[in-house]
Amino acid sequence: MPRRSAPSSVLVLLLAAALPPVARADVDRIEPPGVLAREALVMVSPHPDDESLLAAGTIRRLASDPRRFVRAVYLSAGDRATVPGPCNGIPERTKVERLVRLREAETRAAWRVLAPGRRVPIAFLRGPDLALVASTSVTDGLHDDVLSPAGERAVAAAARIAAALPRGVQRALLLTTARYDAHPDHRAAYEAASRAARTLRRRGVAVELWSGIVHDEIADVDVPVCCIGDLHWPVAGPRHDYLALTDSEERPRPPVWDRVEDVSDLGGVRGDALAAHVSQVIGYPPLCMPVAIPDYYVRFADKVEEPFWVE
Ligand SMILES: [Zn+2]
Repeated sequence: MPRRSAPSSVLVLLLAAALPPVARADVDRIEPPGVLAREALVMVSPHPDDESLLAAGTIRRLASDPRRFVRAVYLSAGDRATVPGPCNGIPERTKVERLVRLREAETRAAWRVLAPGRRVPIAFLRGPDLALVASTSVTDGLHDDVLSPAGERAVAAAARIAAALPRGVQRALLLTTARYDAHPDHRAAYEAASRAARTLRRRGVAVELWSGIVHDEIADVDVPVCCIGDLHWPVAGPRHDYLALTDSEERPRPPVWDRVEDVSDLGGVRGDALAAHVSQVIGYPPLCMPVAIPDYYVRFADKVEEPFWVE
C-alpha cells in the first residue's frame, strides 16, 4: 500500500481518541474526506423531522460538497408522538421503544435524501420528548427556560457532539431551531447549538449559527396545548411571511430574520425528506401514531424559502 494512503486510518484513530466518549460510536461512520475537512455543517435537531422542516434545501445544498464535514445530533426521539397507553396489545414501554427505533430509522432515511451518497454521522440522544424544559417565563416575548435534569443532560451532550468536529475544520455552520420557537424542546436545541458555537469559537473556529422557527406561537404564549403554532407557520401565501408570525403584547413578533435561503431550485427535496418520516406524515397505526395535522406537512413540503436568524 502506498505510504501516503496510511495517514487516513491514523487520523481516524487520533480523532477517536480526541472525541468525547458519547461521540465515539460515530467515529467509524465518519467519512475519510470529512476527517480532512476545513468546513463543517452541523444540524442540531430537537426531534426527527425538524431537520427537514427547517432546512432541507439548505442541508442538501451544503452537503453536496463532499469536502464539507456533515453531522447531525437529535436531542429527543419524539417519543410522545403516539396515543398514550398500550396499543394493539403492545405494552406502553415496548411501544415507545419501537417508536423510537422507527423514528430513528426514518431519520436515517431522510438523511439519505438530504445528503445522498454520504454517510452522515447521526447521534440520537433520546432525551424525553416535551420534557427537556421544566419551566419557562417570558419577558418581552422571549422565553427564559429552565431545563429539566434530563434536558440539561441532553443539551450538554448535544453541545459536546456538535462541537466534536475534525481538527482541521476552520469554519462551521450550525443549524438549529430558533429561540423564538413555540416548542420548548426546540428552544433547548437552540441552547445546545449556542453552547457548541461558544466552544468552537474559543477554539478559533469561525462559526455561524443559523436558527429558524418550526413552530410559531399561534397566539399568546402559554396556550394550554403545546406547539399549536403548527397551524400557523408556514401560512398560505408567501412561505416566509414575517407578518404571519404572532404579534401581541405577550408575544411580540420576533425580529425579522437575517437571511432567507432560496431553495426553489431544490423543489422536491423537503417533500422527499419528509416522506421518509412516514410515521409523521401519514401516521403509523401499528404503534398508534396519528397524524394530528396532515396539512402541516403538505404546507412545509411546498415551502421554497428557508429563513434564518444568523449569529
Ligand atoms: Zn420538533
